Amino acid sequence: MSIVYFFETDSESFDPKELADVLEPLFGELSDGKTALKLHFGERKGDTYLKPRWVEPIYNSLDRKSKECVLLECTVLYKSPRAFASTHKEVARENGFTFAPIVIADGERGNDETEVEIEGEIFDRVKLGSSLDNYDSLVVLTHFTGHLGSGFGGALKNIGMGLGSKAGKMEMHGNFDLKISSNKCVACGECVDHCPEEAISIFSKGFPTNSKTASIDKEKCVGCGSCIAVCPEEAVKIPWASRSRRGLQERISEYAKGVVKNRNTLFVNFLLNITKKCDCVNKKQEPFTDDIGVLVSEDPVAVDQASIDIIGKSKFMISEMMVSPDRQLKHAEKIELGEREYEIRSLN
Ligand code: SF4
Ligand code: SF4
Repeated sequence: MSIVYFFETDSESFDPKELADVLEPLFGELSDGKTALKLHFGERKGDTYLKPRWVEPIYNSLDRKSKECVLLECTVLYKSPRAFASTHKEVARENGFTFAPIVIADGERGNDETEVEIEGEIFDRVKLGSSLDNYDSLVVLTHFTGHLGSGFGGALKNIGMGLGSKAGKMEMHGNFDLKISSNKCVACGECVDHCPEEAISIFSKGFPTNSKTASIDKEKCVGCGSCIAVCPEEAVKIPWASRSRRGLQERISEYAKGVVKNRNTLFVNFLLNITKKCDCVNKKQEPFTDDIGVLVSEDPVAVDQASIDIIGKSKFMISEMMVSPDRQLKHAEKIELGEREYEIRSLN
């Protein structure tokens, strides 16, 4: 049975220095080598991502122990400044993460990746941001939320989806077939220039307009996701709701298994400002339930299970979040990523 520590607080009275102090003995279990803090920096218009002032004392504490300590993320798959490393860092700085070096693990375009072998049921290797290889310890700070596709966004999703390269993210979503909307495409050629497989060509739509559009050759496409990121018109369509949901939760768990392999890890779930949708949403969101506190564990399955149990599973099954949170956790336990049984110990 895994141990999950509970620090009871709400976002108004939360003292992050106090949390960092009580976490210090747990940091002692981490190596004193190179440490990365994985977190989501939020989008420009969001405001419920983890507050920088909550993260800074934890960073400072780890930085004192480690040879090197950084904030770590990967590029995203969807259209956003966070789709590129340089503009992702700009958003992070604008959102207040100015106190530490930031590393975007999968490089400027999200295609710098390392392949990690795992013993999964779906994958035997996963594609992660290559800079992850530089860190022997990972502290995962997660703003726990609901999520339309995966039921909830917890520690497993933060590292599984969050540290996959662009191709890895495509793979988790089921290697769907990308299509280009000829109504939106202005035939600028950006995607053609950035496709590593020469899978995109521009052709004339013919009579009556003779206007041009881009098209993807499915046989050549390897699902790297570059065309999604570079298209200025958001013309590359991702069919999120078709093939993507089936198996998404299981795939996320398998990617998470690759992230923790041969690495010291600690998972810190913030059950504060708990929103229905994740921090990728580029607008303000209202919490759908009360603040609870912070849960901490060396076991990513136990910390997510405890988070769901404390919030109340039924709250994750309301209309906007119709995916049961169970599948991700059951699969994670099946592939021996952690345990769903846990014991709670108070940190207050
Ligand atoms: S996802 Fe496919 S079409 Fe798009 S850039 Fe990558 S290989 Fe080319
Ligand atoms: S980048 Fe977008 S707008 Fe430009 S050619 Fe490709 S699909 Fe069309």
